Amino acid sequence: MYNHLLSPLDLGFTTLKNRVLMGSMHTNLEEIPGGLERAAVFYAERARGQVALIVTGGIAPNRAGAVAQHASLMQTPEHAKAHQVITNAVHKEGGKICMQILHAGRYAYHAEGVSASAIRSPINKTTPRALTTEEVWQTIDDYVNSAALAKEAGYDGVEIMGSEGYLINQFIVKRTNHRTDEFGGSYENRIKLPIEIVKRTRQKVGENFIIIFRLSMLDLVPEGSTWEEVVQLAKAVEAAGATIINTGIGWHEARVPTIGTVVPRGGFAWVTKRMMGEVKIPLIATNRINMPEVGNQVIADGAADMVSMARPFLADENLVLKAIENRAHEINTCIACNQACLDHTFEGKLSSCIVNPRACHETELNFLPTKQPKKIGVVGAGPAGLAAATLAAERGHQVDLFEAAAEIGGQFNMAKIIPGKEEYQQTIRYYNSMIKKHGVNLFLNHRVTANELIANQYDEIIIATGVTPRQVNFPGHDHPKVLSYADVLQGKKQVGKAVAIIGAGGIGFDTAEFLTHNPHHTAPSMDVEKYMKEWGVDMNYSNGGAIEKPKPTASPRKVYLLKRSIGKHGKNLGKTTGWIHRASLVMKEVVHLANVTYHKIDDAGFHISVGEEKQILEVDNVVVCAGQEPLRELWEGLKNKHNSVHLIGGADEASQLDAKRAIKQASYLVAEL
Ligand code: FAD
Ligand code: SF4
Repeated sequence: MYNHLLSPLDLGFTTLKNRVLMGSMHTNLEEIPGGLERAAVFYAERARGQVALIVTGGIAPNRAGAVAQHASLMQTPEHAKAHQVITNAVHKEGGKICMQILHAGRYAYHAEGVSASAIRSPINKTTPRALTTEEVWQTIDDYVNSAALAKEAGYDGVEIMGSEGYLINQFIVKRTNHRTDEFGGSYENRIKLPIEIVKRTRQKVGENFIIIFRLSMLDLVPEGSTWEEVVQLAKAVEAAGATIINTGIGWHEARVPTIGTVVPRGGFAWVTKRMMGEVKIPLIATNRINMPEVGNQVIADGAADMVSMARPFLADENLVLKAIENRAHEINTCIACNQACLDHTFEGKLSSCIVNPRACHETELNFLPTKQPKKIGVVGAGPAGLAAATLAAERGHQVDLFEAAAEIGGQFNMAKIIPGKEEYQQTIRYYNSMIKKHGVNLFLNHRVTANELIANQYDEIIIATGVTPRQVNFPGHDHPKVLSYADVLQGKKQVGKAVAIIGAGGIGFDTAEFLTHNPHHTAPSMDVEKYMKEWGVDMNYSNGGAIEKPKPTASPRKVYLLKRSIGKHGKNLGKTTGWIHRASLVMKEVVHLANVTYHKIDDAGFHISVGEEKQILEVDNVVVCAGQEPLRELWEGLKNKHNSVHLIGGADEASQLDAKRAIKQASYLVAEL
């Protein structure tokens, strides 16, 4: 529905000002020493960037509700006082900010987790304790207390987290609520918890305080709420005093990707649209709304009154401002990879952003105008070289950027053609804009040599020449059946009906994804209805939770994904996205083989052993995705001939698919030059 907006960029931006909410993100900033001060700078920059309303990461109303042992609480006047640094900073910029109150329920990663019933979540090892009736009333009081303290702290409102499978959701659905008291049994009883929270909060905080209720409009789990129940809850929440209803999509344990890059742009706006007209208070649409034109379209379609964007504000704090000023082409777009944000959060690390390493590091990473402009030569226009060249030029240095290929982007030019990774082209578009804006001298089709670089008399030379695919060397490695992933992805070689892929790392998975899609068909990531069908979402909402049997499109070829090591495929893929890649290939009936020894490749096929068992895979092609080697020739030739040569990106460290490291390394280097 919204994928036609991937390109070209629609610069029209008339309706969205004051309609963008910066959605809640748990960054872990609140939990580190000095973190509230850092969070204040983080939020203030977004407020300066003209976002209408910010929602903080989830803060627990009591200890049991904390997501992790040391997660933040809003429970005492001291907590409220500590948060004033955030609210003051945002208000100084003319912004508004609400605090999200989140009780994790059975998603708590500590021993004191509680829930409606003692039923363990499939994504948590700990079984929660069922709250007593008295404790449920106490929990309601704790929410109200938290909201009152948020008001004392200077927040403009609160968001009550009622979705994504957290405590309130756990009370609402039968799947997790087996209670027999006043909070269990009938639907009216099961929604009593959220209704009482909203009602009593409104009574406590008075009229002029925003209460956003994040309502799970689509649970995507068995025995989830029916549409009629969701509407009933929305009306009840409105009557109880909510100011705005925000959309929640899918419990964390749902087996449908809801925010990953495979999800089409604005892919779940249809759910909010269904709710339009059922209540009078404003509705907010969420999930994969990453660019102004997507938000504009959602609103123009009558699918929502406002849109929520969360991760896009990690990628670019000035997203709204740039859109208002008709500079949408300058927006550093969130590519929905989760690599530096959610993966970090779930690993207990500080969140940031793959394309913007300054996110959540605003106090330590800054690109200040230089007082001593230098002449800088950058080699390689992949993510590392692009970040280095554009940031150096932004600081006021004179920068020449050399690229051997006919276009910028490096390996992102291969990433962007993987079905489900179309967004990666936005990073290339962004850097093209930055090259023009900051006056980088770009030399395409120019494989630069060491002598040329020396002759140019640069003060600093940055080598970002990237990697080359690693070769295999067993018998038959030079058989015509054997192809490199680069040749396959760049369309230089055709692939037959049966294919084996050597290597099950990130590129192996991506190559399998590429080969299991019919190139003549639109990818599900570009077509909402196809996507919902593929992953088993019932857009007619004919049952509770709106899930049905997935109906994936068949792969045009048989694919084997082989790896030498023992154990599960893809265990080194992203924490929050690895399961999506695995599930996608399972749906395409890709054969996963581990503990494989490669013997030879000949006309008969690929001779391998799986454990002790020998077999021949009768394949037309073998695609090698066996890792990469750094390309350091140029650096080797220069390092003893020039005083200031820097090696960054894949050329420095080629062990993993890691644009995050490449861009971050470039950014920290350039901040100091
Ligand atoms: P590169 O992107 O390799 O760029 C190096 C550039 O230098 C090239 O354009 C090359 O032409 C140029 N060059 C080399 N020598 C010279 C010379 N002498 N003169 C001029 N130019 C020269 N990473 C992630 O983090 N997440 C992902 O999801 C992801 N998906 C991927 C999917 C695929 C299919 C592929 C292939 C890679 C993926 N990656 C991903 C990896 C990511 O693209 C790399 O980590 C990143 O591109 C490394 O950036 P770089 O700038 O160091 O090198
Ligand atoms: Fe978006 Fe990836 Fe940045 Fe997260 S790390 S904000 S998903 S681009």
